[in-house]
Amino acid sequence: MAFKIFQLISFIFLIFILLAPSGHAKRNTPSGKKSSPFDFIKKLKGCHKGNNTKEIHELKVYLEKFGYLRYSNKTQATNDDFDDVLESSIKTYQENYHIKPSGVMDDETISRMTTPRCGVPDIVNGTNYMQPRNRNHESGSSGIHAVSHYSFFEGEPKWPPSKSHLTYRFLPNVPAFAMDPVARAFQKWQSSTHFTFARAQTNQNSDLVIGFYRGDHGDIDPFDARDGTLAHAFAPTNGSFHYNADMRWSVGAVAGAIDLETVALHEIGHLLGLHHSSVEAAIMYSELGGGQIKNLHADDIEGIKFLYNR
Ligand code: ZN
Ligand code: ZN
Repeated sequence: MAFKIFQLISFIFLIFILLAPSGHAKRNTPSGKKSSPFDFIKKLKGCHKGNNTKEIHELKVYLEKFGYLRYSNKTQATNDDFDDVLESSIKTYQENYHIKPSGVMDDETISRMTTPRCGVPDIVNGTNYMQPRNRNHESGSSGIHAVSHYSFFEGEPKWPPSKSHLTYRFLPNVPAFAMDPVARAFQKWQSSTHFTFARAQTNQNSDLVIGFYRGDHGDIDPFDARDGTLAHAFAPTNGSFHYNADMRWSVGAVAGAIDLETVALHEIGHLLGLHHSSVEAAIMYSELGGGQIKNLHADDIEGIKFLYNR
């Protein structure tokens, strides 16, 4: 009898081994979770004002999360009516992402919305951070008015002049494979700005703190397993930078997975005071596709220099 049970367990174990994903496939994607967020959006292809499709209320949640939509009426916010307010918020989204502002859920809009993105909203309290604003780059008495694409948080919070050296630490929930990519991202910011960074031990105090979380994790912006939010970070001098543990992460370019270092470059930009940029090549652009790698861009460096007057 004992032998039969042993045989049965061995058989189950063998089946398990055969069905488990192969080591090769997993090597480059240490955290294999999901790769195609926002799938419900694809079902809204061609939708426009006047339509009533059952995924529309989820589109409203998406647009509300990233700052595009705010209904005062709860019923309007949760029903499936494609109304005027929704159409106008889609037009604003399209303008921000350089798509013809038709208000229709066309292919380009769907492709943009289904790309994973940073959790920091593009619009906060009516301020659209992705609209270029005229800044006065002073040059003698004439003054040059240049249109810039980088942006800052409301009130332009920044680190005080005494804090150009910042320490960072990893919380115990950060997987070991994520630490080197984050350290490389700090190194890149250090090479291009007046800031220097050093890693502190997990049990020490530090200016910046990096963690991995899923779902609601105690701050104002819960990660949603469905919404494909990559990460978020807070304005100076908060110092918190959180990765979404439910995303599929990679070290380097791996199809369908998100590069840890590229996301760290973006979120460190928030920690230093940058908001989103409308320049697609800038690291502060809000979206990042699977397998994509990006670096700091002149727009990002100019933004930090302008903010800190360097
Ligand atoms: Zn962001
Ligand atoms: Zn968080």
